[in-house]
Formats: sequence, C-alpha cells, structure tokens
Amino acid sequence: MSKPTVAIVGRPNVGKSTIFNRIVGERIAIVEDIPGITRDRIYGEGEWLNRTFHLIDTGGITFDEEPLLEQMRQQAEIAIEEADIILLLVNGRDGVTAADEDVSNLLYRSNKPVVIGVNKIDNLEMQTQIYDFYQLGLGEPFPISGAHGRGIGDMLDEVFTYFPANDDGDLEPDTIHFAVIGRPNVGKSSLVNAVLGEERVIVSEVAGTTRDAVDTGFTKDGQKYRIVDTAGMRKRGKVYENTEKYSVLRAQRALERANVVLVVIDGEEGIIEQDKKIAGYAHESGRGVIIVVNKWDAISKDGRTMDEFTEQIRKGFAFLSYAPIAFVSAKTTKRVQKVLPVVQRVSENHQMHVPTHVVNDVILDAVSMNPTPTSGTKRLRINYATQVAVGPPTFVVFVNDPDLLHFSYRRFLENSLREAFAFEGTPLKVIARKKN
Ligand code: GDP
Ligand code: GDP
Repeated sequence: MSKPTVAIVGRPNVGKSTIFNRIVGERIAIVEDIPGITRDRIYGEGEWLNRTFHLIDTGGITFDEEPLLEQMRQQAEIAIEEADIILLLVNGRDGVTAADEDVSNLLYRSNKPVVIGVNKIDNLEMQTQIYDFYQLGLGEPFPISGAHGRGIGDMLDEVFTYFPANDDGDLEPDTIHFAVIGRPNVGKSSLVNAVLGEERVIVSEVAGTTRDAVDTGFTKDGQKYRIVDTAGMRKRGKVYENTEKYSVLRAQRALERANVVLVVIDGEEGIIEQDKKIAGYAHESGRGVIIVVNKWDAISKDGRTMDEFTEQIRKGFAFLSYAPIAFVSAKTTKRVQKVLPVVQRVSENHQMHVPTHVVNDVILDAVSMNPTPTSGTKRLRINYATQVAVGPPTFVVFVNDPDLLHFSYRRFLENSLREAFAFEGTPLKVIARKKN
C-alpha cells in the first residue's frame, strides 16, 4: 500500500511533462471518461524494478503569473513537502542557470535525496554537456533525452536506490480509513474537528507509516476509524496551498490510502467546476463515496431547499448517483453526528460479498425481464456471474462474446445488482469474460 513518491522539479520547458509522460506512460488508466472534466497530468503512477511509485509533476501546480524564481521556489517546497525523492530536471542545452542554482540550494538544505536529470541530451556527442551540472553540488548528473527516451532507465536506477524500505502496514484491518476531500475553504478541517469533537469519540493520534502522512485514529461505538491526511487538511499559509491544482493533488494522494471518501461541498457557494473535478477523481478511485454539503447553517431554507440542492448535486455529479448526501454544519455541528454512521454503512457496502448463487439468481431474473442484446445474428448469452472482489464489489459475467455486452446493458446489469442489494455509496464493477 505504501509507495514512495518522486516529485519532478525544474524550470519551464526543460521537459518535465515529457519525462512525466514517459515514466507514467500508459499507466494512467482512465477508467471512464467523465464528460466536462479536464484532467491534469500532474499526478501518476510509475513502475521501476517491480516497485510502483507515485510521480508528481510540480510544474503544473503553481501560479504562472509569479516571477520565475518564486514559481521555482514554490515547486521546490511542494516537492520537499510531498516527496521522498526529488528529481531535478535541467536543460543540457542551456548550461547551469541562476534558477537551477537557486533551486539546488533549497533542495540541498532540505536533506531529501535529489537526482539530477540533464535533459535534451539527444545524442552521444552532447554527453559532455552534463559536466557543468556537477557544480550544483547534488551529485552525479544523468544525461537523458525525454524526446528519444534515452537514459531514463539509468536515472531511475539511481532514484530506486533511495526508495524507502517496502512496508505494507498502512491499511489496518478492522479500521475504516476515510479521507475528507474538497476544494479549499469548503470546511474540511472544520468538519474533521466537529467529528472528532462528537460525544464518545476517543481520539488517538497514529503515526502514519508513510513518512509524510499524519492521520488521526479514533474509536466511536466500538468501530475504529482513521482520517487520512489530517495534517494536509489543517495546514495553512503557504502560497500554493490554496491553489486549485494543489488541492486536487492532495485529494488524489489522500484517496490512495482510504476506503471511503467524503467529498465536501460548500452549501453556501453551491457546486463549481472544481468540485466536479475532485468528485470525478473520487469516483474513479473506486472508493466508497459520500457527498457532504457543509455550511447548511449559512443558507436560508424553506421546505424545498434540501430537495433542490439534492437535485443540483445529482445533475452536477451524475456519475456519483450511488453516493448518499449528508447536509451538515461543521460550525454549529448540526447533523454532524449522522456522518459516521453513514461512513460505516458505506464501508460495509463497499466490502460486501454476495454468494455466487444469489448473484446468479439476480442476473437471471434481470435477463428474463430485459432480454440480452443482439448484434447482427449474434445474441449475447450469459452463462453465469460471480463476485470476484470487494472494495469495490466487482462482478465477472461469463458470456459467449464480451463485445456484445455494451455499455447500456452493462449498466442495466449493474442497476439490477444495485436494486437487489444494499450497495449505496459504493461504485460497482461489472466485467465480461468469454466462456462458451
Ligand atoms: P516542461 O515545461 O518542463 O513540462 O517541458 P515540456 O515537457 O513541455 O517540454 C518543453 C519542450 O521541450 C517541448 O517542446 C518538448 O518537445 C521539448 N523536449 C522535451 N524533452 C526533450 C528532449 O529530450 N530533447 C529535445 N530536443 N526536446 C525535448
Ligand atoms: P478547509 O479549507 O476546507 O479545511 O475549510 P475550513 O475548515 O478551514 O473552513 C473554511 C471557512 O469556512 C472557515 O472560515 C470556517 O469557519 C468556515 N466554515 C466551516 N464550516 C462551516 C459551516 O458549517 N458553516 C459556516 N457558516 N462556516 C463554516
């Protein structure tokens, strides 16, 4: 579960996103394209020598209007904050620049391991350009070419030597790990404080096994919980911490370590584009999802307000139709006590396992109500179905030809499963496999 994090830092145009894409490559699996949501390629997963790791391109995070040096400092700070290893990219064609030196000083003082990639060394003759970069004082520079894919393996070998020892102890059994995500100022940390301040909540700080993570563990009514990345939620003051991209990055990182996620919306401001983006990542992560509308104290209500807001959410987050919605006020703590029971229920649903004969009964009933589709002279035949995984519940249907199971029929089967079982709050996966 715990994977090392590598962050790429470097001046604009040195080739950060080129290298990012090379390393992450096809591994960015877009489970389902959600219309209207643009994707930032700033966070991804790479693999080297059988270890997977997180990769961050800090280049996409800060404000473009800031002077170059300020941007670079912010990127370096983000890298120092978020990463175990920093990959400093420089342009071999430019030689050492003042900005490279400035950033090297910051990185040097952080005591984090740094690997230097000298990019745009497209051929062997250019190899000598790397010697200049020894003067940055950060060790051996590696000649690479993002454009041609050269030298990246040697550089990653070096990065690999700094990976912390493998530990898999991050997710504790019997504990519900949940993340509270949302754009800045929706009230995440207020909500966490309100939950922790509830009666009969017994808090015990847990040292995250991952080095930069601080989670909060607590027990309520005999159930153990852990709030992922409470430190990240409470931090304040650095310039980049309120940027949209940084909040998306934090949300993605918190999702990695959670089973259930609370997507917090500001009830006073309503849904904006950035909420959709964060909710989109929550959906794609396959975690259990709850939508929390906060600041409910701050709006004037009549008997229909909640229904109207619900409708707005269902429209805005059509892909999260399975997520329950909680209306709360972290400030007055009204209805906050309803949150944990929902978290517990969604976690159970996310982990639910249905016996094969019951799955088959539901699928056969569904097929008799709504016959399988045909394509030309071929008709989809379903032999049987079985649940192969939990968290999220994943079903395999064995069919004569997987291509015949189109999106709409797959959706129909998924909905039939939802109607038959209590899957509120959890996405479901339905996969077709060939079997004659
Ligand atoms: P970023 O701003 O640091 O993310 O840089 P990009 O990855 O967007 O690259 C900036 C420009 O440099 C683009 O035009 C790339 O095609 C080019 N580039 C990236 N890597 C190489 C390389 O290894 N050799 C050459 N010649 N050009 C490169
Ligand atoms: P975060 O950035 O998402 O962690 O948001 P904070 O918890 O720091 O809250 C941002 C602002 O919203 C603060 O000024 C809070 O006092 C305010 N706030 C948080 N929850 C509520 C609420 O339920 N009602 C109202 N009226 N204000 C709230």
